[in-house]
Order: sequence, then C-alpha cells, then structure tokens
Amino acid sequence: MRIGNYSIDLDFALKEINENGYGKVLIQLPDGIKRYATSIARYIEDGTDCGIVISSSSCYGACDIAIHDAKSIRADAILHLGNLPIPNLSFPIPIIFASVEMDTKMGFIEKSLKFLEGKRVGIATTAQHINCLGDIVDILTRNGFHPIISKGNDRIAKKGLVLGCNFTSITSIQDKIDSVLFVGTGLFHPLGLAFAVDKPIIAVNPITGEITKDELKVEKRKMLKRRFAVIEKAKNANSFGVLVSSKPGQSRIGLAENIMNELKQNGKESYMMICDNIDPMQISNFSEIDCIISTACPRIALDDYCNFDIPILTPVEVEILLGKREISDYKFDTIY
Ligand code: SF4
Repeated sequence: MRIGNYSIDLDFALKEINENGYGKVLIQLPDGIKRYATSIARYIEDGTDCGIVISSSSCYGACDIAIHDAKSIRADAILHLGNLPIPNLSFPIPIIFASVEMDTKMGFIEKSLKFLEGKRVGIATTAQHINCLGDIVDILTRNGFHPIISKGNDRIAKKGLVLGCNFTSITSIQDKIDSVLFVGTGLFHPLGLAFAVDKPIIAVNPITGEITKDELKVEKRKMLKRRFAVIEKAKNANSFGVLVSSKPGQSRIGLAENIMNELKQNGKESYMMICDNIDPMQISNFSEIDCIISTACPRIALDDYCNFDIPILTPVEVEILLGKREISDYKFDTIY
C-alpha cells in the first residue's frame, strides 16, 4: 500500500490474518503514520473478515508492543507497523510486523562517498531504509569501497540495523572498518554511533540529502558538555528515583536493582518506580526525589532531559556519578 511518502507492506498482514482466522486485530502505529490509521484499518477490513481496533496509545518502537491494549479488547493478534521485531523478546499473543519504508534517494548515497575515510566501510541504518542496504552495498562496491554489514546482538533483527538503544551491528565490526556510513534521518543514531566507536561517522539523510560529518564532532562535544552538567547537578542529590519501564522491551528490573545497591553502598537512598510512559509532569509531583535514573529507553534522559525539573540520568551516567567510569569513556546506554 502506497500512502503519503510511505510504502507499507500490508499484504503479509492480510495473509497472516486470513490464514489464522483472527477475529479481532489491534493496529499499533508510530505517531508519524497515525494520520493514515483509518485508511490502513479500512484496507485490512476490506481484505479480511476481522474486526479492527486502533491503538491510540504511544508507540515508540518494537520495544513498546501494546500488549495491555490488546488484552483489554481481547484481540487475537496485534498488527504493529513501522518497526522490525526485537528477536529476543517474546509475547503472549501473535504480533504481525508490517514494514513502513520511506523513499531512499540513492543519488544522495553517491554524493556521500567523498566523505568516507578508508576503504572498509561499516553500514548502519534504521528500519525505514533497511531494505535499501543491498543497493547501498552495490554503490559502495562499484566505487571501490569494501562495505561491511553485521547483524549485531540478539536485540537486532537484521544486518545493518541500529536502534537508539543498540549499536552492536557496528560495535561488533569496529576492528574491521575505517569509517561508518549511517543512512537515516535525525542526529540521535549517528551521535550514538560516534560515542560507540572511535571511527569517522558519515550520516546521510536519504530524504533531504543532508550529509553530516564534522558537525557530528561538534554535536558530540556539545552533548558531552550537557550530560556532564546534568551529572554534576546530580551529585547534590540524596534521594533517587530509579525508574523501570513497564514496556516489554524497555523493562530492566535487574539493572534497576543493581543501581539501587550501588547507590546504597554510596550512602544514597533510592526508590524503585514503575511507569509506562515517563511523564515529566507526573515526575514533578514526587518532590522528595532529587534525581531520576531511567532504566527505560535511553532517549528519555538524553532527548527529553529539558522537560524535567530534576536531573535525569542513564545507567551509564550513574557509573560516572559514582566514580566508576570516566566522562572521557562516555557511551550511550545500551539495551541488549
Ligand atoms: S528502547 Fe528506545 S531506542 Fe530502543 S527500540 Fe525502544 S524506543 Fe527505540
């Protein structure tokens, strides 16, 4: 199905629903394509005998499967759009993943080649462009480069895929590459790569053609400065809220317990807190808490820290806070 700038593969979903005779299916979409939800629902209803319910809850990734919504309406399956599955997660009901691809303009990839360093190039991308990796490899090979694509750990569904919480498809090949070509939108993933491996990162936006390389070094320095300031502020905190997410792919209760033990050994008091979406307004009600440590999606602390009245740290930053890691060894938080 072609809709807006997206190609959405719903044929596999139709086949799965019809073959399994699902009577009720919950559709879950990322915010960017929620505006097409009714068209998608109609397409599924026209091609099957099943009833559709649309989840209006947030959907941040494949870590955020709407199990609770599905159980509430007694759905037989969830149709989850826009993300690849996280292989090391399992669910109590069937999940049908449908890819949502954005147009990848190969001319922009060609233009990025002159920024690459060395011949051995690690390729990284997001779910929206993963099916273009073959073409990207062809372009690099034709131009005398040696592209390398790796699968990463068990959280990663396909070769070359990176998540905001997992860069193992590149860290696993860091000794074999001279530079990294990231194909995708936004700065978060290339910045995470820049902290993950000590190699030049060249980020090409395949929609706008923007190529980022030296700017990333500047952004990296700025981010380090910002995070250092937040960690310094957290040094005055005595009472910590250690947040655990109830989202299936973000829940790290063992890590939260370890952090609480570490804090205790350092004379700090801490309280485990649980929530689905981390809402700064709700957090501000807990006025006895001086600092939040988020074991949920790393992007909450790194992207949304401005919205919180108190410092919010990632688990890696707690190590720096407690003197177990140097700021020079700063990394993005990784979920394995
Ligand atoms: S935890 Fe965050 S970065 Fe990781 S998949 Fe979920 S939304 Fe993306």
